Amino acid sequence: MVKLADDIEQARASALAAIDAANGDLRDLSLEIHSHPELAYEEHHAHEVLTNFLEGRGFAVERAAHGLPTAFRAVAGSGDPTVAVLCEYDALPGIGHACGHNLIATSGVATGLALAEVLGEGDGTVVVLGTPAEERDGGKADLIRNGAFDDVDAALMMHPGGQSPQMPPGSVRVRAKPNALHALTVRYSGKNAHAAGRPWDGLNALDAMLHAYGGISLLRQQMRPSARVHGIITEGGQAPNIIPDRTAAYFYVREDTVDHLEELKPRVVACFEAAALATGTTLDLTWEGNPYTDMQNSTPLADTYEKWAVEQGMVPVEPEGAGAGSTDMGNVTYAVPGLHPSYSVESTAGNHNAGFTAAAGSEEGHARMITASKALALTLVDLYSQPELLAEAKREFDERAAARASQ
Ligand SMILES: [Zn+2]
Ligand SMILES: [Zn+2]
Repeated sequence: MVKLADDIEQARASALAAIDAANGDLRDLSLEIHSHPELAYEEHHAHEVLTNFLEGRGFAVERAAHGLPTAFRAVAGSGDPTVAVLCEYDALPGIGHACGHNLIATSGVATGLALAEVLGEGDGTVVVLGTPAEERDGGKADLIRNGAFDDVDAALMMHPGGQSPQMPPGSVRVRAKPNALHALTVRYSGKNAHAAGRPWDGLNALDAMLHAYGGISLLRQQMRPSARVHGIITEGGQAPNIIPDRTAAYFYVREDTVDHLEELKPRVVACFEAAALATGTTLDLTWEGNPYTDMQNSTPLADTYEKWAVEQGMVPVEPEGAGAGSTDMGNVTYAVPGLHPSYSVESTAGNHNAGFTAAAGSEEGHARMITASKALALTLVDLYSQPELLAEAKREFDERAAARASQ
């Protein structure tokens, strides 16, 4: 096999041809995951079909990798550098694949197949990394802790989204700006009493919850425009004629950067504490799962992806002012140089909306994913064949890390 860099045009053509040749199988794989939605850390079916698929295509597959039962590591090629393409495959409660993670999984596989086709002996290693639990608890942070990125030089993935006036179908936001996020649960413990007969004997845990909810609503006026604090009450009492002695809630606190998030968190905690004081109840507050960081987009990777996205007919759009959602891919960009472009598909329903579930299973959505994956495959061909590109990405990554350390 010739070295990748010796016939780069042929390598590019072969990478794209490998995706085209697998298109029907990739569509089946995507629909198989789409029709079996599984929640965070429970993605056993997706784990099985993805690992079987990659093994059948010649990848060396490690199931239940890095200490997580539904993570996997599928490797092709040999030598340096090692580039990881990330798959996500968890769904949302009640509305299935409303974030299109079936497309993310399939895109990771498509890109991996393309590179496996063209990486000659010693040209480099491609890792298709299966990453559980993006929608909750931040599984990629577990993977980072367990060493999944220790031998990885760069990591890339993409995310589909609904259309908007700023992002018509076929457009791509190369540099995503997700928020840093930390989730928390709270529980108030009070004292039951007959709600009509002897209410003065009770300590009302629902009053505490509403007091906190109202306090956060008032605090919102003083938050930065980039802040988002939102939650649900998961336990609100037993019956109208019982003063509730137990209530519980699940909240997210988000900000545009990790630093802003750390500034906001104690102010939100104060709202919960104040409510306990005011109502005589007891507060139990727990920060849940892994915190999600903001994203450090690698400039060389972004510029390269943008070039190939345009070549594939996609239209780049600028990032929004304030980040929309949050993703644990942000955490990965603090571990290695990384990139997470978002591309739009034909759907007026946005992510986390049942309408988007249909788009994630549509022919059109699949075709958009294939186009975006081709741009990603061509980006990787550049990364493997142009050592200075990866060196520049590492230089920027190290400079940012040094700047943070000196703050
Ligand atoms: Zn998602
Ligand atoms: Zn999502």
